[in-house]
Amino acid sequence: MKKTNIYLDYAATTPLDPRVLKIMLPYMKDKFGNASSIHSYGQEARKAVVEARETIAKLLDSEPEEIIFTGTNTVSDNLAIQGVAKVALKQNKNHLITSAVEHHAVLDVFQALRKQDFKITILPVDKYGTVSLADLKKTITKKTALISIMYANNEVGTIQPIKDISKRVRKVRGSSQYPVFHTDAAAVVDYLELDVKKLEVDLMTLGAHKFSGPKGIGLLYIKKGTLIEPITYGGHHEQGYWPGTEPVALIVGMAEALKLAFKERSLVKKKVTQLRDRLIKGVLSKVPQTQLTGHPSKRLPDIASFVFSGAEGEAILLHLNDQGIAASSGSACTSGELKPSHVLLAMGIKPEIAHSSIRFSLGKKTTKKEIDYLIKVIPDIIKNLRKMVPKL
Ligand SMILES: *Cc1c(COP(=O)(O)O)cnc(C)c1O
Repeated sequence: MKKTNIYLDYAATTPLDPRVLKIMLPYMKDKFGNASSIHSYGQEARKAVVEARETIAKLLDSEPEEIIFTGTNTVSDNLAIQGVAKVALKQNKNHLITSAVEHHAVLDVFQALRKQDFKITILPVDKYGTVSLADLKKTITKKTALISIMYANNEVGTIQPIKDISKRVRKVRGSSQYPVFHTDAAAVVDYLELDVKKLEVDLMTLGAHKFSGPKGIGLLYIKKGTLIEPITYGGHHEQGYWPGTEPVALIVGMAEALKLAFKERSLVKKKVTQLRDRLIKGVLSKVPQTQLTGHPSKRLPDIASFVFSGAEGEAILLHLNDQGIAASSGSACTSGELKPSHVLLAMGIKPEIAHSSIRFSLGKKTTKKEIDYLIKVIPDIIKNLRKMVPKL
């Protein structure tokens, strides 16, 4: 019997699109030159990097010089936050604002800066995981250097009011250059608008492996004029912001993946939304005492996240895996620690319930048949696990 193989963990990472791989391969073989070299090998590589940057800049409605290639989302988040903080401190701006539901790639940077000379505000969220604009307004001071709020949450899918926040930032900023606004857009590329002029952000993080591109490459959009310094040293590459020989194949791959994501967005969005709604409806109607987490409507099309109180998340994952279904227990990055997700706790979900969280994340290749199979097998998995938990 053929083993089922159902991948519902696209928010952790996506499979590389074969069309992207095809574009990358020549740069891993014959076109191997160092983009800094003078000879023809170098020129060939340089040309590919220049073109990729132009392609990406056009898609994001920015200038090529505003696109900095980095190692991945985590690197871009670090560069954005630490790079701005470093300059700001010299101007006596030592206050940084973020939200309680950010990825660790943002939250942990804030915690590290707290141990240095910075004052940190971590904004609470409501039960859906949404940041309140009123809360943000109250916390901005003359000392605020940076506000970092994610575009949408990778665990529960809740979309933040990014445009409202940037409008607010612009208003309090007036003619000054602070606060700077950064958004971590890692989770949204396949689904939401990414036009930096419309979003009016100063800094934006993206990473290719979340949108069918290769791992090991990300970018930071840095709006012209933003006060930011490098946090790593070693060369002139990427205007000094991410020094080191350019990974040409990865850069070319990211540009192609972004191009395809934009081109296919409306189709993918429609298809994935329908399947996600089918999944949510199926799970909620077939599994009693189950709750959808995150915002009911202002959520990413690909994420269906639940708490199955009385069953343990890691155990559910293992049983799903036995059925050939790959999912995640809230946050892949915190699993293993067996700590309940900080996102769910911030949304006011009790720790013992947060332990029962599962995130299904869909993608381009997800089918109705796969969703129906999941809906068929999950009720018994949860029922059996609940039987094993002693009643309180
Ligand atoms: C995946 C993700 C990250 C981290 O991405 P890496 O590729 O592991 O660096 C950061 N922020 C968000 C919102 C993500 O979804």
